[in-house]
Amino acid sequence: MLAEQMNKAQNQAELRRQFYVALTRVRDRLIFVGSPNIACSLNESSMISMKVNSKGNNMGDLMLDGFRYMGLNSGSEQCWSLEGDVLGERLAEYGEQVLEIDPFALYQGSGFMEDAVQELRLYHHPDCFAIQTPTSVLSNWLTIEQRLSEPVEADELEQRKVRQSPTLRMTAHGLDTTNSCRRRYWLTHIKGWQSEAFNINWSSNYGLNEDETKDRSSGEDFEKVTTGWPSATSFGSMFHRLVEIGLANPAEKKSEGFDLGPIWFNRQKNLLLSSKEINDAIHSQTEWHLLSPEEQQQTRMRIVELATLLSEGSLGRLVDGEEINGHQIEGLRTEASFFFDHEVTFEGCIRTPVTQLNQLHISLIESVNILFEGQADLAIAGVEGKVPWLQVVDLKTSGARENVLEDHPLYETLSEPLSLNPQNDAERQMLQNHRLQLTLYSLVFRRQEEQKPIHQRREIRPPALLIATTGRYVQMPEKMFEDAEKELMGLLGWMADLAADPNGMSEPKRLPMESIDVCKKCPFFKGDVRMCAPEGMELGITAYLSSQE
Ligand code: SF4
Repeated sequence: MLAEQMNKAQNQAELRRQFYVALTRVRDRLIFVGSPNIACSLNESSMISMKVNSKGNNMGDLMLDGFRYMGLNSGSEQCWSLEGDVLGERLAEYGEQVLEIDPFALYQGSGFMEDAVQELRLYHHPDCFAIQTPTSVLSNWLTIEQRLSEPVEADELEQRKVRQSPTLRMTAHGLDTTNSCRRRYWLTHIKGWQSEAFNINWSSNYGLNEDETKDRSSGEDFEKVTTGWPSATSFGSMFHRLVEIGLANPAEKKSEGFDLGPIWFNRQKNLLLSSKEINDAIHSQTEWHLLSPEEQQQTRMRIVELATLLSEGSLGRLVDGEEINGHQIEGLRTEASFFFDHEVTFEGCIRTPVTQLNQLHISLIESVNILFEGQADLAIAGVEGKVPWLQVVDLKTSGARENVLEDHPLYETLSEPLSLNPQNDAERQMLQNHRLQLTLYSLVFRRQEEQKPIHQRREIRPPALLIATTGRYVQMPEKMFEDAEKELMGLLGWMADLAADPNGMSEPKRLPMESIDVCKKCPFFKGDVRMCAPEGMELGITAYLSSQE
């Protein structure tokens, strides 16, 4: 009871404080809205008759006392003045009174002292409002939009220039997705759309945001629903973990004068088929514990099968110390952390304001810094003859959950399994699908080497893929690498332009119908409500339902 009283008293004190603040800070207009406890009446001469019973403990009472005080200060008697009110003395409790208020007289002049409010408007009846046009939220919004789109004549304001250099964080594995459809990036980063499919059934909406997961499967079967297996992400993570802890490292220096730090030389024999490492890898994923015993057995057997393919493939043999086609490995790093920043500078780039209203300052963008931070699956240092080199290798597990591995297109025309060149369309396509991610990794190592004196720099080999499904180690062709670097720089330039002036860039168009395969992997295309689609395809829920018929 006591607590309740104290709480009530505190709430009232807070309300009084807020009211006082409103009264004393008002700049142009102060609007009071409320209704008296006791009914008012309006007589034939439009005078409001109002019974009050003021004890000085609510906001209406406070207002009344305020008016009395101002009336006293002005020296003129007013409708709320009370006999016995004396200027400079504490006002007596108002108590029960009948006030006779003339709204028209108050409108013509408040009668308060000179520096106080000069006009009080009392809206006591609907007729006080000449025009009453109800407006909906939508029509209000349309009016605002209309006003914003109208040209505004610029006043001669002195604008302050604020120099800015925004920073943009980006993931390496998000580069190829952005490159395949810039609109998708624009919808997410400029329009603020959640990168998730829009499902009507809430429970089916739950899923990992693609930026929260590292695409372990290589994307091709990222969304594929398979029974009897863990998800593509979990399966991919298990095998990545095994490679991280089980891959052999010859740790044998074969080049003179080309330093590598000790981090490259953690000597280890091949542990890819060791039970301890395999158990560690499969248990690293919580999804493992949700699988049935049969599913666990199938998954484990497949991990062993992939580990065998890798051990017998060209990379497995190279890291085990073997020489293949004149190449030897000196050392390696798994899960190699990297940081890469790419700065794009601008001359006189002014950020387009959101509205046409005059702004006191304008943003002058001097540069945009794009930051990448992450881990490359594998970096290897080797020699060919006497030429030392570095190479980044990304592990992909696409197709590794097929019931029969050899059914996958990656096995087509695999005439030279030890060759570093792509052997079939599936391998070429996989390199193509990840060209920007792989290229970025290579640029990280190239920049590191460029810090060294020229005679100590290692050659940077084009990046490569380690394809778990076949155990193949496939290097990106030189031409693809060169083109990908140019493409990457173009994409980073566009992203920097967008970050510098988001409102000044035009909206990227929807992809043409021929690119529907790209859209099929896009969250804005999937789900119960299609939020985007190739040009010409219907959007919205009906589009989804009709496509299901
Ligand atoms: S649906 Fe297609 S066009 Fe639209 S954002 Fe996604 S990939 Fe781009």
